[in-house]
This record gives sequence, structure tokens and C-alpha cells, in this order.
Amino acid sequence: MRCRLGAAAISAVGVALVVLVTSACSVPAARNGAATPPPGATAAPSKPSKQPKPSPSAKPKPTPTVPKLTGSVVPVNLPPQAGIGPFGSIKSTGSASIALTFDDGPDPVYTPKMLDLLKKQGVKATFCVVGTRAARYPELVKRIVADGHTICNHTWQHRMDLGKQSKEVILTDLRDTNKAILEAAPRAKIKYFRAPGGYFSPQLVELAAALGMKSVYWSLDTRDWEFVKYDHGQPMVDHILETVQSGARRGSIILAHDFHKPDTVIAFTALVPWLKKYFKLIALPT
Ligand SMILES: [Zn+2]
Repeated sequence: MRCRLGAAAISAVGVALVVLVTSACSVPAARNGAATPPPGATAAPSKPSKQPKPSPSAKPKPTPTVPKLTGSVVPVNLPPQAGIGPFGSIKSTGSASIALTFDDGPDPVYTPKMLDLLKKQGVKATFCVVGTRAARYPELVKRIVADGHTICNHTWQHRMDLGKQSKEVILTDLRDTNKAILEAAPRAKIKYFRAPGGYFSPQLVELAAALGMKSVYWSLDTRDWEFVKYDHGQPMVDHILETVQSGARRGSIILAHDFHKPDTVIAFTALVPWLKKYFKLIALPT
């Protein structure tokens, strides 16, 4: 375990969402973007820390609201992210900068929390929004754009098999999604598309390009949707911290989610400052 977070802090962001485990992103198409320890990555040795004995008069410390990152993984020497994703999609920023991407929103609870965190940290990111949710929460789409983040089309209703559909079905889906985004934020530039679960197909990439959108895959998957394996609360927070700390490198495109993901918000509360120490964080350029 790399860190610990008090149960009270976790409950503060709503573990009641345990029932919402069926994220539509729960089946990734390709595993090559999954977080695996990069070559050369070294886990920080965990030294037993010498804790001073509390004096009888010492006041109890409050439960931390931000998970503490113990250890000191220094990622700057990892080789930069290279290569391309499925069917020509991008999986690196093409520079030394890292792009944070948040999928499946907007979410009325967790998208604002993530936006607040990013604003406080002065960081821009990319939000891949679902059309039906953009239509339902236009004020959140508006805020994403107003805050300077990049908007990405994540299909109308997160249809995993969209890539196998006819040209007409695909175009209608992508256009409807863009329309919902633009109705909420008329000045939004929609330059990116991400297929649900990463299920790109040649036709999907081609049609997205015809609508002016570059297909974007990822290079580091936080797997913050895999509750069966990582559970909720502290185990998931620890998992996300470990995954990003051990896998982030120059050029990474990091995949996480802002839809019903309280643990992701908690983890990124610590991860964003940590990433900023080593990397420039950017929104995918429009
Ligand atoms: Zn998704």
C-alpha cells in the first residue's frame, strides 16, 4: 500500500454510489493501454518511518481529506510515450506534456468536483462527454469549456458497438453528440473523439475525421471503473495512485472518469499536485 486515507474522507465524497458499479466503460477494447509497470520504473523502497511517540498532551490529528502519497517515485527518467493507438488513433500527446482525460460525464456531482480541483490547481484537461448527458447537463458542458478545458465527443449514448454500425448510424450518433455540446457551449471546438471502451474501428476513425475530430486513445488507463477487482473506497484510491505514479511519463495520455467516480476525485486531489511536480499538464490542443 502506498498510501492511506481515512474512511471518513472517503465517505465524504459519497461511497453511496457503490450501487452504480455498472459503468458503461467497464469493458475496455484493447489491453495495450492498460497500466503496466513501465520498463525502468522503480518502485520507491518503503522505509519504515520512525514515528515519534505521541505525548500524552498531543492533540489528535484530523483525518486527512487528501490522500497522502508516500514513497517518492520519480518518473522523469522513464522513456517518453510513443506509438499510436488502434487504427491510427493517438495515444501520446506528442510532446513532453501529459494530458489528463476524463470520460463519461458530465456528472452533476463529480464533474463539478473535478472542475473545482483542476481550477484550484491551475490545470487544464480534456473531457470526453456523452451526448445524452451533455444534453441533460448543458450548464456543465458550458463550464468545462468556459474553464478552458478541451471537449471530446464520446458518442451519444456510449454505445460500445458503434464502430460496427453503418456509416449513417455512426454519423448520426457523432453529429447528435456534437450538436448537444454546441447547444450547451456554442463556441466549443470539438476536435477529438474517443470511442467507448476504446472500441475504435477503421470506419469510426475515418468518419470522426470527416467531422473534424481526431480519434484519441490513451496510454495509461487508471482502470478506475474496475470495481470487481479494485473495490470501492480506499482500495480503489490506492490503486489509482499506484497506477499513475508508476506509469506516468512524458507524453502520457491518462484515462480516468468523472461519471460516478468519487474515488477518482479523491485520488486526483493528490495526483494532480504530484504530476505537476514532474510534468506539464495540458488539455489536448484545439
Ligand atoms: Zn466511456
